[in-house]
Amino acid sequence: MDHMTHIFHRNPRQSLPVAVGGEGIELIDQSGKRYIDACGGAAVSCLGHGHPRVVNAIKAQVDTLAYAHTSFFTTAAAEELASMLAASAPGSLNHVYFVSGGSEAVEAGLKLARQYYVEIGQAQRRFFIARRQSYHGNTLAALSIGGNAWRREAFLPLLIPAHHVAPCYAYRDQLAGESDAQYVQRLADELEQKILEIGSDKVATFVAETVVGATAGAVPPLADYFRKIRAVCDKYGVLLMLDEVMSGMGRTGYLFACEEDRVEPDIVIIAKGLGAGYQPIGAMICSDKIFNAVVEGSGFFQHGHTYIGHATACAAALAVQTVIQEENLLANVRQRGEQLQQRLREVFAEHPHVGDIRGRGLFVGVELVADRASKQPLAPAQRTHAKVKAEAMARGLLVYPMGGTIDGRQGDHVLLAPPFICNAIDIDEIVHRLAPAIDAATGYAT
Ligand code: PLP
Repeated sequence: MDHMTHIFHRNPRQSLPVAVGGEGIELIDQSGKRYIDACGGAAVSCLGHGHPRVVNAIKAQVDTLAYAHTSFFTTAAAEELASMLAASAPGSLNHVYFVSGGSEAVEAGLKLARQYYVEIGQAQRRFFIARRQSYHGNTLAALSIGGNAWRREAFLPLLIPAHHVAPCYAYRDQLAGESDAQYVQRLADELEQKILEIGSDKVATFVAETVVGATAGAVPPLADYFRKIRAVCDKYGVLLMLDEVMSGMGRTGYLFACEEDRVEPDIVIIAKGLGAGYQPIGAMICSDKIFNAVVEGSGFFQHGHTYIGHATACAAALAVQTVIQEENLLANVRQRGEQLQQRLREVFAEHPHVGDIRGRGLFVGVELVADRASKQPLAPAQRTHAKVKAEAMARGLLVYPMGGTIDGRQGDHVLLAPPFICNAIDIDEIVHRLAPAIDAATGYAT
């Protein structure tokens, strides 16, 4: 399509095909070409496209009531969805605040964390600690805590102060001879040191993606990492906020990714899989402790947007979550996820440019390298991740690659996040199309 249109795309020099339809796991462009949506945009379309139950729920909600402002009304869709989420969220995470997407949900979480300390008389707590190689959104506060240096560079003078520690990224950072337990302890010690350096009474919240998504390619934490982190946070009265915008809502085979880590955060952030792309919706879920501090303190969360608790978005998300529960899709995510990793390991067993395959459930990353043995990253100027995307699209496959220099560290990876409705044949076909795309992009001839 001619790029001189009026829509301001993220990359205005790029011409994009026009998406005209979606059926099941496929998207269709204006030429009739079909693409297997193996990344759901960016881990969004967990039920694929055109799911009749979700489409009908949206139609029914619009027919009845599309929207009512939350300073006047609540709605049945919002109430029911909140109850459903509270019932499935870990422990005392019982209070759900609906917004329109991930960044908004992160902003709400950061502001609530700050307000919590004001409510309980610890207003000096104003610093956030997050991790390098992380992404929490593009609004200014979310960008401030994100560890993605190139995204932040132009906006540095506008950002709020934030501190960063290392992510749990075993493939890159675990030392030779270091056990998992030693590595995890080293990371927990680093967080403790950072808290002490800032001043233990000045830190408000530690923020992390439970499984790192876009910036590192589906990197799960090692067992016990978050339990150790939780213990450090508790020791110094620091809140733990987990960003599950990508990894939450069943993507890892658990509704909340942190269930697998047996850790309960004070705040959890969800978005993409919540509405599965049928409507824009995200949510911030907080614990009884935080909620009660607001109710018993000022009585008002000093935050809000026009579209919070949007009735149609909530109705769509309610339908999505009902389908996931009733069709037992989390079990399918776990099974198909295992198959996906296994097939990738078989196909890329000897590939000199595939360094690591990791993930949880249907949230899988493939890290590309110049040399498998030394783990030497590919040169950023080669833009291998962009080539993989183009080669995959040419073969009718959508994957979500990321690369270049991210927070001082070079790396290229491909993120796979297929719909939860995939069957075994679909998974084989995804790998069948991805393998030649990676060969072509890395210049490797099998
Ligand atoms: N947090 C994480 C972990 C994300 O992956 C994203 C988006 O990719 C966001 C936050 C921001 O979400 P949104 O793009 O909906 O604002």
